[in-house]
Amino acid sequence: MTKILIVEDEPRIVSFLRKGLEASGFSTVAVDTGQSAIYLASSNTFDLVILDLGLPDQDGLAVLKAIRGRGEAIPIIILTVYDDISHKVSGLEHGADDYMTKPFQLEELVARVRARLRKGNSSGAIAQLTLTAGDIVLDIRQRQVLKAGELVELSTREFTLLELFMQRPGEAISRLALLNEVWGYDYDASSNVVDVYVGYLRKKLGTRKIETVRGVGYRFKP
Ligand code: CA
Repeated sequence: MTKILIVEDEPRIVSFLRKGLEASGFSTVAVDTGQSAIYLASSNTFDLVILDLGLPDQDGLAVLKAIRGRGEAIPIIILTVYDDISHKVSGLEHGADDYMTKPFQLEELVARVRARLRKGNSSGAIAQLTLTAGDIVLDIRQRQVLKAGELVELSTREFTLLELFMQRPGEAISRLALLNEVWGYDYDASSNVVDVYVGYLRKKLGTRKIETVRGVGYRFKP
């Protein structure tokens, strides 16, 4: 399983990242200091690092320099509140592979993580590019869905929700998990937006593809 090292000192973001990445099929380990990040990034057990720049013990850029200074080629994505161009440029100059600013959408982060991993391991990526369930084919790269060979028009949220279901066929997924993963950690937990969007997907894909799991949430039939 692909292992991701999360270097982040904000517990709420750590928990959001871990849940989201694990739901997308990654395993994660989180640390909150630069020192442990440098140590673990060189341990050969991780496939990618998500690095916050504002850490309690040292600047994330120093962490980045230390990791690259050891000759480690592991992909590193910076995730930070600093959205100014000078931070971006110095992050990329010091060997970061990508740069994202907070607040962020989980779906975008996961897409960027996958893109980075594909560059490093192009053979393993092909299987992940399409998901199939019965007569439904979802093409992750083209962001297209076909049902019985016919193109189905989906909005971005509908697509992301369907992608999540198709990655976890047969599994009961809670409303809250769906909300966190598709709409983000700052979304109102009492919202019925998940039910509304499941309704849209049922209308477009057939009512029987997504089952209601009473008291839990929904399950996608494989
Ligand atoms: Ca921080």
